[in-house]
Amino acid sequence: MSEYYTEALVLDWEEVNNSDAFVHLYTQKLGKVRAKAVGIRKITSKLAGHFQPLNFVNVRLVDGGSLLLVDGLSIKKIKLTGALIAARIIKNAAAEFQPDPVAWNFIKAIFMSEDEAKLGNFLMLFKAMGFEPASDKCSFCRRGFISVFSYADAQFICGNCVKDLKLSENEIQLL
Ligand SMILES: [Zn+2]
Repeated sequence: MSEYYTEALVLDWEEVNNSDAFVHLYTQKLGKVRAKAVGIRKITSKLAGHFQPLNFVNVRLVDGGSLLLVDGLSIKKIKLTGALIAARIIKNAAAEFQPDPVAWNFIKAIFMSEDEAKLGNFLMLFKAMGFEPASDKCSFCRRGFISVFSYADAQFICGNCVKDLKLSENEIQLL
């Protein structure tokens, strides 16, 4: 059984039942993880307020085969329009259990800055997470300018190719 104390950004919740949820976190020490929070959906939960999506937190996680969220405190609540989209990008694009200091420092800085322009530069966010487009041209047709990231292919593609490939909104991120 291992225990971790780490800073983290709360990305999302996934309901398990009426009392429990999986909390998706982007952590400094473990990279992206999903931890079960027992009782967090109960009205009496002391953790629920601290672990709302987009909060920066200090969290204590216990790994006994699967990850449990046992304690924590929010450091800062982020209230920016672009933050939800940035959190969705991190949830979809970051690798599980692969801590990345460059990505962590970048993500923490843009969220803490409360600067909409920095937070809304999704191409920079992808680059910080290691997805560097080879050029500004579409990886499929090599002609159109990149305007979309395809999660399925982990490629930067143009608007026309998105239509040709019939990718749904869940499979792509507009840049
Ligand atoms: Zn294209």
